[in-house]
Amino acid sequence: MDVVTLFKHLIERKSETPDDGGILDFVEGYLADFTPVRIDREGVKNLFIYRKFGEGEHLCFAGHVDVVPAGEGWKTDPYEAVEKDGCIYGRGAQDMKSGVAAFMQAVKEAQTFGGTLSLLLTSDEEGPAKHGTVEVLRWLEANGMLPDAVIVAEPTCEERFGDAIKIGRRGSVNGVIEKIGKQGHAAYPEKATNPIHKVAQVLHRMAGVDLDEGDENFSPSQFVVTDIRAGMEVTNVTPGKLKMMFNVRNNTKTTKEDIEAFVHRYFKEMDYSLTLDQSARPFVTDPDTKVVRTIDAAIAEVTGIRPKHSTAGGTSDARFIAEYGIDVIEFGVVNDTIHAPNECTTPEQVEGLYRVFFRVIETF
Ligand SMILES: [Zn+2]
Repeated sequence: MDVVTLFKHLIERKSETPDDGGILDFVEGYLADFTPVRIDREGVKNLFIYRKFGEGEHLCFAGHVDVVPAGEGWKTDPYEAVEKDGCIYGRGAQDMKSGVAAFMQAVKEAQTFGGTLSLLLTSDEEGPAKHGTVEVLRWLEANGMLPDAVIVAEPTCEERFGDAIKIGRRGSVNGVIEKIGKQGHAAYPEKATNPIHKVAQVLHRMAGVDLDEGDENFSPSQFVVTDIRAGMEVTNVTPGKLKMMFNVRNNTKTTKEDIEAFVHRYFKEMDYSLTLDQSARPFVTDPDTKVVRTIDAAIAEVTGIRPKHSTAGGTSDARFIAEYGIDVIEFGVVNDTIHAPNECTTPEQVEGLYRVFFRVIETF
């Protein structure tokens, strides 16, 4: 099978989270020279599959085989991999069956390697992601098999294939502030404590403010207000309390504690409560590490472009890998229709991605 045929085959296996559509069994069969380890938990299917060529470093390719539901508005069957006008359409075309097909083919065709090559695959990245990559990493640590470097094949390119890799991701902190006041009549403001008036005095120093100046890898962490509510939608009662919600996509310079201190600076004179939840931690892989240099060179060779190093966007399973101190980067096809109807990519990008991964294996 060539990589494009393999890619179409993966699209045709419907695998909405946490269903793997039988893909993991198929991978085991496809990579018959590799040793499989199945780590299935709570309906989530995971596969770690490896081949030891030598005593050197362990390079792992990671990704998810699950996709989000197709939804409405498709012009073709989302599970048919229809090729027309130079594109292949199907749910998961960009996110991320192109990536899975490319690294499957690259490791299958590898004849030599200095150390160990492996794949880490899960059927729960688009869902809660509690029993997927996290569980496999736990198993790898317990068995002394954590990789030295990981390439996650999520779609990272922006305009052209080869123009961007991700070397890190911002974290995400969600917050809720509740300001308790004292309800009253609009005609007697002196007898009430109006939380809207209190918050209005500090809001302009908080909303949209940068919490740090960023650095060469990250844009500044910004305090983004997502909701403010109070009152009863009437004009003659001032509210007894106010609730304000916010999110900070934080870089490595701003911690959850810094955000807590920032809120306290403006709210300390008020009777308030704050709940903070860090749903993801920021991380960055040093651009000077071997995996970054190797993939940059491979992309330049295959596409003629030197990719930019990005940390933009939401979160991915790379964050779990980074927590083990492993050098992790992401590279995949152009990301412009993920999770949308008529998701598609080109056969040239699937082929190009395979060639980049194959070159990385040759030169790592
Ligand atoms: Zn994805």
